[in-house]
Formats: sequence, structure tokens, C-alpha cells
Amino acid sequence: MTPEGYRATQAQYAQRAEQTVLLAAASSTLSGFALASSLGIYLSTVNEAATQLADVWTSAFLRVAPVGLALPRTEPDRLTEVVISVLEQSPRLDPLPRLARLARTEPVVAGRMASQQVMQAHNVERMRWLLDPDPCPTCVALSKETYPVDQLPESHPHCECTTIPDID
Ligand SMILES: [Zn+2]
Repeated sequence: MTPEGYRATQAQYAQRAEQTVLLAAASSTLSGFALASSLGIYLSTVNEAATQLADVWTSAFLRVAPVGLALPRTEPDRLTEVVISVLEQSPRLDPLPRLARLARTEPVVAGRMASQQVMQAHNVERMRWLLDPDPCPTCVALSKETYPVDQLPESHPHCECTTIPDID
């Protein structure tokens, strides 16, 4: 899989997560903690998939075996808490846009953190910012340089850019 294919697959995870969360939040008979808990569990499975893809792909790119990364077992609880805070922050406003943004951002960030862990495990020194197809000017600027692996650039909401090793 090319770097672009990898980035596109991570973006698909994010898109599917957004659609699933929007559908569930709009149609579920659950509410409050039960809804938050079901969304938290679901999002943790998406983060897990994004983490494993980043591990397998980044390792293949480096021609090494996957690290075997796993998310902490507290991940569903953490995500449930995040969903609760969204629901509580916008009880009268429509919480759906914030939930959509959360669902779209979480797997992208999980994938970046995983690729960073793989690079660190293999002493890769620098990484690149691989642009999403509709990049903002900030990301275009970021993509022109390489970064030390331990310094993940700040990204903006809806950013689907990916980090990949900078190797020859
Ligand atoms: Zn971006």
C-alpha cells in the first residue's frame, strides 16, 4: 500500500466513524450515559483499527515486523467520558456536529500516535506530514518540512493528514 493509500484508508476509518456516530446518535433509543457508553465502546474499536493499521503499515514501510501496539484497556472509558462532556456541553444546542467532529478526529489522532510509536521503536529520527486531499494552508506549510519523531505537529479540527517516516 502506498503512503497515499495508507492515508486514504485512515481517512475512510474516520469517515465511517463519523457516519456511524451520527446515525447512532440520531436514531438510538438510548440517551445520556447509555448512549455515551455505547458510542465510547464503538469509537474505541475504531481507534483500535486505526492503531493497528498504522502499526502494520508503518512497520511494512520500514521493512520491520509490526510492534503489536494495543490501546490501553481504559480507552472505552476515556471515550465515554469525552462523549459525555460533548452531550453535557451542548444539551440544548445540537450535539451532533461536535460528536461528528469527535468521531472524525479520534481515529486520525490514534493513527498518528501509533505511527509515532512505531517510528520511535525503530529509532526513526524524522517524519513527514502527509497531506489529506483537501489540505488547509497550515498543513501545506507543515508538509514542506520534516519533524523530529517526538514532536508531533499540532493539527486542526477535521485535519486528516497522516505522519509517515522520512526515510530514503
Ligand atoms: Zn491537515
